[in-house]
Amino acid sequence: MVYYENLTRKLLVDAHSHLYEFKNPERFRNIAIIVVAEDYHTSLEALRLGESLDNVSPSVGIHPWKLLEVSDDEVKEVCRLIGRGGVKCIGEVGLDKRHAKASFERQMEVFDTFARLAFEYSLPMNLHCLDAWQKTLDILLKRDVSRALFHWYTGPLDLLEKISSVGYFVSINPMGAIQKRHREVARLTDIRSILTESDGPYVYRGVRLEPPMVENSLTVIAEARGMYREVVEERVAENFRKFLGT
Ligand SMILES: [Zn+2]
Repeated sequence: MVYYENLTRKLLVDAHSHLYEFKNPERFRNIAIIVVAEDYHTSLEALRLGESLDNVSPSVGIHPWKLLEVSDDEVKEVCRLIGRGGVKCIGEVGLDKRHAKASFERQMEVFDTFARLAFEYSLPMNLHCLDAWQKTLDILLKRDVSRALFHWYTGPLDLLEKISSVGYFVSINPMGAIQKRHREVARLTDIRSILTESDGPYVYRGVRLEPPMVENSLTVIAEARGMYREVVEERVAENFRKFLGT
């Protein structure tokens, strides 16, 4: 990816952003961004951004929260997009037992389909999971998914070793600054498995998240581990290339 070479110091990475919700997304050009989708419409938007901005890697998928409303046809349409050129990742997909328990069975079916497609097309997965971390991991391993990112991980700390040992990743959100559990994740995760993300423009405790805030994620990681920020920045950039397979 040429844009890294043009940036002598900045190696900023936002591994999970809903960029199509921002006005003038080209202003974040100094950050390498994975744009995750929530449904068919936003999958197309992510692909469009990938075509126009060279710092963007588009991801297509259906957010587990959307599975209460999205039709089977729409799921199939998104699956069809995966075979299309330009798709770099599958997500935001996953399982959420905390906020969307009612659709959990359907979530399992759809997630399994996405995991099979990730294997078939050798694509990484960008995951949302809440109160279903082990289940998510089981499906990924069963389907031989080679690259996966647990975004804004707040799950059991004893699963982190397994996540790292199979080569998967977790991304650290700037809100680790005020979320103790997430700071623990930043401290304990193998440095080879850490990425940064914003999840922008999601609003958490009154803070509207934006891609440049990945700088704060770097600070959270560096402080939690007692590492130099510059070193963390380099490691994250290296991990990002590994995650995308570039
Ligand atoms: Zn998200």
